[in-house]
Amino acid sequence: MLKSFLKYYLSFVKVVNRYLWSGEAVKTRPGYVRYGFSIILLTFITLLKLQYFDYIGEKTPFLLYLGVVIIATGFGGIGPGILATILSAVVCSYFFIHPLRTFHFSFTDSVQVFVFVLECLLLISLSGAVTRASSRVRKTAIRFHALVENSADVIAVTDVSAKILYCSPSVKKALGYTVDEFRKMNGLDLIHPDEKGAIQKFYGEVLQSPGEAKYILHRYLHKTGKYVWIESTLTNLIDDASVGGIVSNFKNVTERVVLEKQKEDFIGIATHELKTPVTSIKAYAQILLRRFDKEGNAAAAKMVEKMDVQLNKLIALIGDLLDVTKIEGGRLQLHEEEYNFNDLVKEVAEELERTTEDHTIILKLTQVPKIYGDKERIGQVLTNLISNAIKYSPAAGEITITSTVINSEVKICVEDRGLGISKDHQAKVFERFYRVSGPEGDSFPGLGLGLYISHEIIKRQSGRIWVESEKGKGSAFCFTLPFDYRIIQNVTTGNEQKN
Ligand code: ADP
Repeated sequence: MLKSFLKYYLSFVKVVNRYLWSGEAVKTRPGYVRYGFSIILLTFITLLKLQYFDYIGEKTPFLLYLGVVIIATGFGGIGPGILATILSAVVCSYFFIHPLRTFHFSFTDSVQVFVFVLECLLLISLSGAVTRASSRVRKTAIRFHALVENSADVIAVTDVSAKILYCSPSVKKALGYTVDEFRKMNGLDLIHPDEKGAIQKFYGEVLQSPGEAKYILHRYLHKTGKYVWIESTLTNLIDDASVGGIVSNFKNVTERVVLEKQKEDFIGIATHELKTPVTSIKAYAQILLRRFDKEGNAAAAKMVEKMDVQLNKLIALIGDLLDVTKIEGGRLQLHEEEYNFNDLVKEVAEELERTTEDHTIILKLTQVPKIYGDKERIGQVLTNLISNAIKYSPAAGEITITSTVINSEVKICVEDRGLGISKDHQAKVFERFYRVSGPEGDSFPGLGLGLYISHEIIKRQSGRIWVESEKGKGSAFCFTLPFDYRIIQNVTTGNEQKN
């Protein structure tokens, strides 16, 4: 009984509040309705009080009139509120202050009436502030709602178990489902089977990192039954009381991903097709070189030598592009063997020192045990780091290569005194196609692939690669390699399995 009474009372209060404190609604009501309402309410309350006067008595003359003023102000605004105040003061003085039905009353009674009027005026000004604030809040909410609803990106809120709590209508454009259809689903059920494990791991990371935005590219089942590529950013706002969920912002990027894939396939095919003719041109160039040398035709031999240098550059470029397509397609093969690390460093350093007349390479190597890994690929990394050190220190100087052994790893650093790299570029130089732009950077040939490939090679052999540098003073590119990366990978896999 009490429960249902409370329920009805609360819904009544809600309705009254909605009609009372909305600044917009007040503006739409005509003047005669607003003023008429306050007079009718006042008359009704006066008649009610007169009817029950014997029970109420004379002690509380202003009883209920404060409520009349509040409701009149909420419904009609400041004008009807002031009218209700004046009329309430007059009616109270006449009907409910002793002597009844006259306007003769004592000084104390006049003070009471004055205090009542003052109280009403304060309430009217307060109600104005409440109305203005509520209308501002309503406007802001409407604006944000419109922004979310009309955003090209889909905005969704999910709970810990990936159940969808809210979703914006743009989901129809991105995935083909209506909001109602989408809300009945569990986000994880739509993930591509190959990516379920990775997504669950990612979702776990999001749950572990409150407030942090995390990005992922994955496939989602479209209503048509086909999988589409979705780019999502998830932010865990479970602890934020106003959201209480994980906010995901996602869009369908299938067109872009397909285009990128086509571009990569094209580069892969084109470089593969280029490799064979260029390699045979190089073979013919070497035959020619030998022949001209034999004939003593020094001028022709010099020209073929120059041609050979250019061909080497072209082959290196093709090799880089092929490596990139292999990395992207997860096809970068490693050919492991046990090798002598210091010998490899010396071999590469000597070979590259021959290509420059202005640089001296200083080796500071410690004794390193045999390394198990891909010697060729590590040679490729060393070649890249040393040739970069030569290329990006045009004013010549020394290049120092230092190796140290820490626990079961070897650390090697290639240090130059060249251009250096500013802090904001340092992490990015390992990204694909990233080159430091600027007046100096632009004048060096290159595609921005060497460090990207090096990073991938080192990562595959459980090592780390980084740069320490200061703009204008030089750079030190360092990497570490475990003596036997299989041990580290086994430990990691073992841990993962345990988890
Ligand atoms: P590329 O040299 O072909 O541009 P890399 O991936 O090897 O590509 O290098 C990426 C970028 O990093 C270079 O464009 C250059 O701006 C910067 N960089 C690499 N090595 C050095 C170095 N030793 N000193 C200064 N800048 C370097």
